[in-house]
Amino acid sequence: MMVFGPVPSRRLGRSLGVSHIPAKKCPYSCVYCQLGGGYRQIVARSAFYDSKNIIDEVKVRVEQVINAGESIDYVTLVPDGEPTLDQNLGAMIRGVQPVGLRVAVMTNASLISRLDVRNDLSYADLVSIKVDSVDKHVCRKVNRPYRSLALERILDGILEFAHDYRGELITETMLVRDVNDDEGCVNRVAQFLSLMGPARAYVAIPTRPPALAWAVPTEAASLNTAYQVMRQKVGQAEYLIGYEPKFDSVWAHAEWP
Ligand code: SF4
Repeated sequence: MMVFGPVPSRRLGRSLGVSHIPAKKCPYSCVYCQLGGGYRQIVARSAFYDSKNIIDEVKVRVEQVINAGESIDYVTLVPDGEPTLDQNLGAMIRGVQPVGLRVAVMTNASLISRLDVRNDLSYADLVSIKVDSVDKHVCRKVNRPYRSLALERILDGILEFAHDYRGELITETMLVRDVNDDEGCVNRVAQFLSLMGPARAYVAIPTRPPALAWAVPTEAASLNTAYQVMRQKVGQAEYLIGYEPKFDSVWAHAEWP
């Protein structure tokens, strides 16, 4: 199914999810990925599905939900993989927006050094960007990026996007014990996020079975320190540390990824 929900999201309220690329395609292979192993790590953008069909499906579902007396806060492009791999991303955002709902994209920013990717993301009303580390060796451990990706270019692309973007920008930093949770590492991430100026910086921990069993959440003390550092350096910081609550809706067939 391409369109699911609305499902509850602490960040986005009631969110109608759109899965617009085939599962497990991502330029990263994060150790904490809840989708498990068997990834097809790719960096080439493609048109995976007919975006018109997906847009039509969104419109039908929105109408059904509204007719059932329920509400939707966001249409969220959140496939089981990286949404910017879809070369129809911008067209899809613009195709969905006429239904009158805000459109959000959750990206790992791995391809954001590309101008076409930044342009596509710029149409979204809200963009969430993952920044787990700004240290090359740590990023290699936690995100395990495709070999051709250079972290410096990704970080430059993020800053360029953040500078030009007119929508709501939020960030997410997932903390894995003994990988990216030491204070120095977190401080450098927070320093970088302060340059981005997000509306909120979320400090997250893995809450679902990870791809690799040793990728466990950071300890409570380190989590608290990270939160304090983010608050101090970025301003708005929030925890994202539990399962999203189950939502009692006839439309909710899936939990938030
Ligand atoms: S970026 Fe997301 S989808 Fe890709 S490997 Fe990491 S957790 Fe999984």
